[in-house]
Amino acid sequence: MLSDEQFIRYQRQVSLPEWGESGQEQVSKGHVLIIGVGGLGSAAALYLCAAGVGKLVLVDDDKVEISNLQRQVSYREVDLEKPKTEALKTQLHALNAHCQIRTVGHRLSDSQLNLEIALADVVLDCSDNFETRHQINRLCFEAKRPLIFASAIGWQGQFAVFDFSEPVSLSGCYSCLLPEASAGRQVNDSCSDIGVVGPVVGTLGNYQALATLHKLVFDHFVFPTNLFHVFDGKTLVWQRLSMTRDNHCAICGDNARLRSAHNTERISP
Ligand SMILES: [Zn+2]
Repeated sequence: MLSDEQFIRYQRQVSLPEWGESGQEQVSKGHVLIIGVGGLGSAAALYLCAAGVGKLVLVDDDKVEISNLQRQVSYREVDLEKPKTEALKTQLHALNAHCQIRTVGHRLSDSQLNLEIALADVVLDCSDNFETRHQINRLCFEAKRPLIFASAIGWQGQFAVFDFSEPVSLSGCYSCLLPEASAGRQVNDSCSDIGVVGPVVGTLGNYQALATLHKLVFDHFVFPTNLFHVFDGKTLVWQRLSMTRDNHCAICGDNARLRSAHNTERISP
């Protein structure tokens, strides 16, 4: 049951018939892992903290730089040279002291990230490079944790939900869209080279926060998760493209599953 203080604080969302007190209780029990706290992750974290999510884990090894402030609006000039995770923790604590925040100021190995993913109800990929995106995708698929992906560059943003918590995902995984095997041809988008519009990043980060609340309040995503969303910040048009699983995907394809089953058999006593 919500306390009087909680009821007043969250009244605007608790009063939504689909949300209610039970939805708020689910939100307050929520444990969300945010990997990358640049423009996407910091925007998502602010909304999730404000909504009363119980626990946020922030992972990033960057420090705040002057060129970040144009779009990463959680940070202040006094935060320059501070670790982003610590600067964001201060902002979040000032916003909602009831939200537990844990920070990780370094990149995680597979085993460390595995543990963090296993503890989380939802994982947000707010990273800015293909290597990390593939690592998060692979580990979330193995751990059957829902993954909410977004990216932004120039005037364009991309968003997708991979609900690995469902028994069979027909919409595939991040690797179905951009196979790791083609990593040599993938060039990491760089905001410093191409540029990026601040509100485009904020829009995508807020989409990630909204999708996270869907999962916490309703225990599932109430929108179709087989769509890849592309936002054009010049025309303000969203395009939605169907995603289907690639049977040959190295992560979620049929051969990958057979290989995984075969390996399991071999190591079983
Ligand atoms: Zn796949």
